[in-house]
Amino acid sequence: MSNQSRIFLSSPHMSGNEQKYINEAFETNWIAPLGPNVDKFERELADYVGVRDAAAVSSGTAAIHLALRLLEVEQSDKVFCSSLTFIASANPIIYQRAEPVFIDSEPETWNMSPAALERAFVDAEIDGKMPKAVIVVNLYGQSAKMDEIMSICDHYGVPVIEDAAESLGAEYKGKKSGTFGKFGIYSFNGNKIITTSGGGMLVSNDEEALKKARFLATQARDPAPHYQHSVSGYNYRMSNILAGVGRAQLEVLDDRVASRRAKFDRYVEVLSGIEGISFKPELEGTLHNRWLTTITIDQEKLGISQIELIEALGEENIEARPVWKPLHLQPLFEGTLYYPYEKDRSVSEELFNSGICLPSGSNMTEEQQERVIDKVINVLNGRAGIL
Ligand SMILES: *Cc1c(COP(=O)(O)O)cnc(C)c1O
Repeated sequence: MSNQSRIFLSSPHMSGNEQKYINEAFETNWIAPLGPNVDKFERELADYVGVRDAAAVSSGTAAIHLALRLLEVEQSDKVFCSSLTFIASANPIIYQRAEPVFIDSEPETWNMSPAALERAFVDAEIDGKMPKAVIVVNLYGQSAKMDEIMSICDHYGVPVIEDAAESLGAEYKGKKSGTFGKFGIYSFNGNKIITTSGGGMLVSNDEEALKKARFLATQARDPAPHYQHSVSGYNYRMSNILAGVGRAQLEVLDDRVASRRAKFDRYVEVLSGIEGISFKPELEGTLHNRWLTTITIDQEKLGISQIELIEALGEENIEARPVWKPLHLQPLFEGTLYYPYEKDRSVSEELFNSGICLPSGSNMTEEQQERVIDKVINVLNGRAGIL
């Protein structure tokens, strides 16, 4: 193992203003959950992405769970969900004892394939059992093909939950990612583009629904002086201290996007000339936030697998990762219905078998990025003499 300092995939990057908002909370003794920072963080985020309302919660996962509850997803209901994603996209389906159906990616955005989605709907209609919701993920900061997906879902009258945990700050045709469906969710987990150490946001133009989300997220307490409950709720709200961190982080979000995109550009500049390395594309008309720079490796051309390259980087104390393991391949979801891109082509599996996420933090120094690049080139040089 190298004795050089570790280079992370994506580490928290504070703006310097966080302490100000935290101090405000301390000075006014608003340490309890909720309080002025929570209200302001909700308003500021809603304004930033351009929706009517936002509800701050304890995690992105909690936001997805609340969205499913609001859409009345219940036992044995079906929910369509992107397959190529982090488990958190689908865990709330299980919390509701509903059944996921996984939809493959397409190659242009790596996100939900409209063609595969359409096939899933056709089958669901024949079976007489339509899904209650569709969870569309915007992977690594790239919006899915929202026009196509929304028009299919609108046609079948099924609401969309946009999992924009990774795509805060990204855009699709001039509109912020996460604002296309009935609900959108963001995550402020420690590795995301901005962070509150842990937290999430549920957004929607349906203010009534978000009122209900806040109710469910605070133990579903009925409006009575005594503690009275008619439905089951959760303890899912964000604390006033963490919302203070979020407010300061939101102020620098656009800088963070610019910085991540600059990291991506530098990787492209040096590595795109190498035959066998391809970069995750950016769909025309969209702004990719480049949360993580992701590449795919052609093992035959480069004489190395993506896992070998990841391990070689690991030896130099550089954190690189494979892309998410598709959910339809997870032991947890064995036997779950899956709609591939084409009858004999699974794009998510291709990406899983060839994809690598490279260190992309907005606080990664130029020097650190050059260390990553040098190592990649070194490793490839050692193989097959391709360079
Ligand atoms: C991080 C993430 C989540 C969950 O967010 P948490 O705040 O960690 O609960 C959901 N979906 C995707 C795609 C994510 O990357």
